Amino acid sequence: MAMEKTYIMLKPDCMKRGLMGEVISRIEHKGYRIVDAKMMNLDEAILREHYAHIADKPFFPEIVAYMTSGPVFGMIVEGENAVLGMRILMGATKFEEAKAGTIRGDYAFSTGENVIHGSDSVENAEIEIKRFFR
Ligand code: UDP
Ligand code: MG
Repeated sequence: MAMEKTYIMLKPDCMKRGLMGEVISRIEHKGYRIVDAKMMNLDEAILREHYAHIADKPFFPEIVAYMTSGPVFGMIVEGENAVLGMRILMGATKFEEAKAGTIRGDYAFSTGENVIHGSDSVENAEIEIKRFFR
């Protein structure tokens, strides 16, 4: 048994396109539980922290513009192997690699604007939950 918590964030395109309910349904139908959630407006400072691993990439300014273009919905999602399980539900980062049946494969049409964030390791999940939930 590996009961885990992961940090999931519905990105501004997800909110604007009215896909929140759809994406949350997929998470619930998988069997995970949303144990906390909140709507937030992010600023560049928190994005520089959260996306430190891509902050020096040429596309980073576009990511900041996108991620500050409207509210996001942050969630703590709990379940058996939830960190890897959510990454599988989400689909690949690169839009051309995200398979149909995954959230990104079904709803994202670019790599930049890709509907959903999910922590990529148990260690990062802990850091991200602290970052956004206190
Ligand atoms: N991103 C992008 N182009 C890339 C890689 C990443 O626009 O070549 C964006 C995309 O929005 C992605 C975010 O930067 O979700 C964070 O990148 P990461 O590699 O952490 O991907 P993720 O964990 O979101 O799958
Ligand atoms: Mg990532």
